[in-house]
Amino acid sequence: MDFKKIVAHCKEYGFIFQSSEIYDGLSATYDYGPNGVELKNNIKKYWWMAMVQMHENIVGLDAAIFMHPKTWKASGHVDAFNDPLVDNKDSKKRYRADVLVEDYMAKIEAKIKKDVDKARKRFDDFDEEMFKKTNGRIVARQEEIDKISNRLATAMTDGNMEEMYQMIMDLGIACPVSGSKNWTEVRQFNLMFSTQLGNIAGSEGKLYLRPETAQGIFVNYLNVQKSTRQKLPFGIAQIGKAFRNEIVARQFIFRMREFEQMEMQYFIKPGTQKKWFDYWKDARMTWHKNLGIPADKYRFHDHANLAHYADAATDIEFDFPFGMKELEGIHSRTDFDLKAHEELSGKKLQYFDPETNENYVPYVLETSIGADRMFLAVMSSTLQEETVPDAKGNDSTRIVMKLHPAIAPVKVAILPLLKNREELTSKARAVFDKLKLSFNCQYDEKDAVGRRYRRQDAIGTPFCVTIDFDTLEDDTVTIRERDSMEQTRVKIDEIAGIVGEKVAMKSLFE
Ligand code: ATP
Repeated sequence: MDFKKIVAHCKEYGFIFQSSEIYDGLSATYDYGPNGVELKNNIKKYWWMAMVQMHENIVGLDAAIFMHPKTWKASGHVDAFNDPLVDNKDSKKRYRADVLVEDYMAKIEAKIKKDVDKARKRFDDFDEEMFKKTNGRIVARQEEIDKISNRLATAMTDGNMEEMYQMIMDLGIACPVSGSKNWTEVRQFNLMFSTQLGNIAGSEGKLYLRPETAQGIFVNYLNVQKSTRQKLPFGIAQIGKAFRNEIVARQFIFRMREFEQMEMQYFIKPGTQKKWFDYWKDARMTWHKNLGIPADKYRFHDHANLAHYADAATDIEFDFPFGMKELEGIHSRTDFDLKAHEELSGKKLQYFDPETNENYVPYVLETSIGADRMFLAVMSSTLQEETVPDAKGNDSTRIVMKLHPAIAPVKVAILPLLKNREELTSKARAVFDKLKLSFNCQYDEKDAVGRRYRRQDAIGTPFCVTIDFDTLEDDTVTIRERDSMEQTRVKIDEIAGIVGEKVAMKSLFE
């Protein structure tokens, strides 16, 4: 579905609102509405179950957002958590220089895709890989992408802002708004938000809002290890808010200034990082695929040039409405963070290995996914417009969210056939009161039943239960399934079993 339609749907059906909308909103900040908070909670629950409940050696943590300012010195965020900023002098618009270059490469990639799609139509048994390797024009385009990509990675790793500027000039990149190439120099911009402790004046009292949840885990790793008597390898999982003063934030909940991360740090013996990197790549991809989202929406993107703390890294990218973008990162962070905290705090952060009788600082393998980006991935890939027959057998369109029943905001809707017949509504209320003990249910009596079905389809409710006059006679109801729209007659006592089997989180693990 078109991106604009998805955003409009999110507002209309109470998933996501612009923050402080009555004051014209606050840019890159969003609020989750009644259906949004349910869906987001379910995504978080699925992640937590997969990490904590399914692994005896992974435990949870909920660290504070504020941390001692030295934390961010040790982690490298004070000195190096920067994005390259550039302004267009004519439009006065601000951009991330690396994103301008990435967009330039994406345009070349789109041309390659166009050529491939054309060729696929021409040949019967089309071999895409072979075609990409042998077609002269595509090979040249791919070489150009690789060359730019390497140049960009080197400039970013070196923090070389003159080179970033030179790239924009050499590639002839123009401002998408003004069309001009009249750029300022490129400068580093630190992404951390800061605030001030009330009782300490000046720089001594300067605090940061955490830009990632990971550091709360690192500084607590020995507390957790000792209090839960873990042996390596073991993991700590955490879900919580993070804050980044993003330069450009124009893609709805994809890039926000306040967002939520689901991170897991896995503490391992040095030397075993390759094994665990492969393990977590595989485990995380399985987690995504079990949601039933088509596999071709995902791909790995291994990093060629690594961040200062990593010895291997990959992104799980997702086919968002605006292209393949990072959804989750898997990083082999070595002992960078723990060693840095040891140094700056002067406290030993070593683990005593009872098997080898040695003390050492563990290595860390991290998986890090944005809850909001995952929300957008689910929303954009499951929301569909479908042509279906209406009550009279004519074609009509319905908007339906075909998401896995276990993460649906509402599990069952209870619908009395007519709202002005007390015997129907009181019976429906009785069914609702019974089912709400087990599931998030909705009672709806307004409009014709067909309209009510469509409203539930639009928020992804897997089951609708209709109470009619037969119900009063024999305690049976019609239960309608969202995707097939099939209706079956069942006993009231059977509803909980039918719904329960489909919406249980455990169905995502079986
Ligand atoms: P990007 O390159 O898109 O800025 P990143 O590489 O800086 O992302 P990480 O620091 O690896 O991201 O953070 C881990 C995860 O947190 C990301 O994969 C993403 O899902 C999420 N995330 C990061 N920044 C944001 C943001 N501004 N808004 C929403 N989610 C975010």
